[in-house]
Amino acid sequence: MTAAPALSVRNLTTTFDLGASRVAAVRDVSFDVMPGEVLGLVGESGSGKSVTLRSLTRLLPSGAEVSGQVIWQGRNLVGLAPKDLRKVRGGEISMIFQEPATALNPVLPIRVQIEENLRAHTTLDRAGRRRRSQELLDLVGIPDAARRLDEYPHQFSGGMRQRAMIAIALASAPRLLLADEPTTALDVTIQDQILNLILDLRDELGMSVVLVTHDLGVIAQTCDRMAVMYAGRIVEEGGVSPVLGHPAHAYTLGLLGSVPQAGTERTVLRSIEGTPPALSAIPPGCAFAPRCVFATDICRTRAPELVGTTEGHAAACHHSAMVRHQLGVSA
Ligand code: ADP
Ligand code: MG
Repeated sequence: MTAAPALSVRNLTTTFDLGASRVAAVRDVSFDVMPGEVLGLVGESGSGKSVTLRSLTRLLPSGAEVSGQVIWQGRNLVGLAPKDLRKVRGGEISMIFQEPATALNPVLPIRVQIEENLRAHTTLDRAGRRRRSQELLDLVGIPDAARRLDEYPHQFSGGMRQRAMIAIALASAPRLLLADEPTTALDVTIQDQILNLILDLRDELGMSVVLVTHDLGVIAQTCDRMAVMYAGRIVEEGGVSPVLGHPAHAYTLGLLGSVPQAGTERTVLRSIEGTPPALSAIPPGCAFAPRCVFATDICRTRAPELVGTTEGHAAACHHSAMVRHQLGVSA
């Protein structure tokens, strides 16, 4: 028997009001996250990763509309009243962002920001909150926590600010951590430390994690399963090893830098040419077709469905078989 998912997302669609028209930034996205699992969301800039993550708890600008289902603890968060959603947000579900500078309050010491979260989401008394905020800084590996608690965000280095933001996010003991490019702004060494920290915390606290990144290296290093997004859709998903080892969508193959160059006998490796479509001009059929070396007529007319290739691995590509063969040939 397999365990029930912690989070179950079905047919999530998010549209924005552009005055004269509406555009869909997330289209019919479905995925599950198991308890204690780290799911990676990857794709080029503009593919809809952040909007997907923010749609889960509706942390979106006014004018955004979300439909579909986000099943969390037996409730559908889509359609939950704003006051109930606020309790979930920052409580059972916490979010961390790429740029801690915008998420931290510059005029409040770190202690106050952690204790505010503890007050909102736990039953700890004043003394308990003081103790817990120091434990949290220890937990995220900030040395000399007792002293640093009374410092302001600008007194922290970039890596330490990111840790402080994670400490604030963890104050509520979330069951799900939503992390949007949490290490993109950091240098590689600090990035490794933060990613390892998230994995340690997952082990220690048993929380699930959805990690957004545009970096396949980060996915390989950190995630159990992954979903690849393009133009607002999931185009491939599965375990990290199967997807990266045997990609079944031309876009994933392209992200891996393994697209064969058209018109040459030998296969050369290069990155994907062209840019993703504007939301207002998503081509019919497969949205990736205009950039795809495998594309044929069917790709330009019929949108491919996300279908399983092997256990737990699925791709929305008319030419999955050819794509999978390609890597075997070029390797
Ligand atoms: P990424 O994968 O880089 O995180 P996003 O999820 O931020 O991409 O954005 C997906 C698409 O939605 C982009 O085309 C972006 O321009 C668009 N978008 C994001 N926020 C808004 C908004 N508030 N209004 C209109 N379009 C938006
Ligand atoms: Mg983003």
